[in-house]
Amino acid sequence: MVEIRNPIQVEEAVAKVMAHKQKGEFEYVDISLCDNRHLAEGIVATYPIPAFDKSPYDGFAFKAADTSGASPDSPVTFQVVDHIGAGHLPEATLQSGQATRIMTGAQIPDGADCVAMFERCDTFEKNNHTYMSVTSETKPGDNIIKTSSEISEGEQLLSEGTIINPGVKALLATFGYKQVKVAKQPLVGVIATGTELLEVDEPLEPGKIRNSNAYMIAAQVKRAGAVFKYYGQLPDELEPSMKIIDKALEEVDILVTTGGVSVGDFDLMPAIYEQLGADVLFNKVAMRPGSVTTVAVKGNQILYGLSGNPSACYVGFELFARPLIRHRLYSKSPFHNRGKAVLKDDFPKSNPFTRFVRTYVEIEKSTLTVRLAGIDKSNVVSSLPFTTSLMVLPGGTEAYKAGDEAEVLLLEDTDGMSEFKSLKEA
Ligand code: AMP
Ligand code: MG
Repeated sequence: MVEIRNPIQVEEAVAKVMAHKQKGEFEYVDISLCDNRHLAEGIVATYPIPAFDKSPYDGFAFKAADTSGASPDSPVTFQVVDHIGAGHLPEATLQSGQATRIMTGAQIPDGADCVAMFERCDTFEKNNHTYMSVTSETKPGDNIIKTSSEISEGEQLLSEGTIINPGVKALLATFGYKQVKVAKQPLVGVIATGTELLEVDEPLEPGKIRNSNAYMIAAQVKRAGAVFKYYGQLPDELEPSMKIIDKALEEVDILVTTGGVSVGDFDLMPAIYEQLGADVLFNKVAMRPGSVTTVAVKGNQILYGLSGNPSACYVGFELFARPLIRHRLYSKSPFHNRGKAVLKDDFPKSNPFTRFVRTYVEIEKSTLTVRLAGIDKSNVVSSLPFTTSLMVLPGGTEAYKAGDEAEVLLLEDTDGMSEFKSLKEA
């Protein structure tokens, strides 16, 4: 007799998985190697930026009050008494009538309260002295970047879980983080099951197919921010499968298998979970594709039994594994970004269950649009290369048409442009 499974809603399935979330460990990584990792601690400013009043331009620093009444007919002249470049300190306190030649980034000398850029100053030599004149008035504070005007000491700058992008790195370097405290990447074991599978470098044989899921999942693991270990592909035989799965569970934080979770004669994963003593959280979800997606828990390890069908496998990973991984990476926003997009293609199927359509998004005249990535069948691989989003069509809805709106989950950055268009046209 075929086992009857009770499907649960996607939201409930996500909640069941997330109930087992755990904060991951952390490690220290050299700043040059921390790209795309997640901060394991918030970053607080340990000193103000700038730490001293400085000049934003190459020019002259002087007392603004000295320029009172300056005009083209009545220029005000200063004697240039000092010359400071960025990184050098001013020597003397400026007196009335004196100016310091100052470069971008250099500290404002005591006594000066403004800067005029070179373009506004005329320089000339007389009696072996350098002079500078201005023809307009200047106000105190003009062209000075004040101490702590950008960042105050003690300010909370970044929260834990932030992904380290080039700008984050700049801030880390600014505050002297040679070693950066980052979330340790969880280790995700990847196993493909199916007697029909051939490895990527094996020649095709009748009745067999190449194992594409293992490589796809490994890439999804990496995209989610974790690391993977591939334990190979297993035939649909209980004993050899148990052996490898036992070994994997000695090493990994999370184990992802594909195939064998359905109710077919050779679907062994249910028996494997039973033999492992794992607690199956669910084994049927009211969604398409990926209704057979199974998640089980053993101790503090999570086991994902994804469908062997490539598109179903892909969707199952994104919905249920990615947020858990992101949470382990201290992310405060572990779920996919989502928003409303306008369909550019018809989607003629009705949707008895929540459907996650492999799609790609584009921005057209400031509107997010979404197109089908290819054939909408759970067993296809051909739509996956073009998939950058999952379009969510709620259960109980009918066919969608071009022009309708739907929610999309964004899986990655969209492709770029072929040329840099004039920004006026944007
Ligand atoms: P299963 O979930 O084991 O019933 O497999 C469902 C379908 O997915 C079958 O047609 C399998 O041949 C196919 N399949 C299973 N594993 C993989 C894999 N690793 N790569 C590509 N296709 C697979
Ligand atoms: Mg199978």
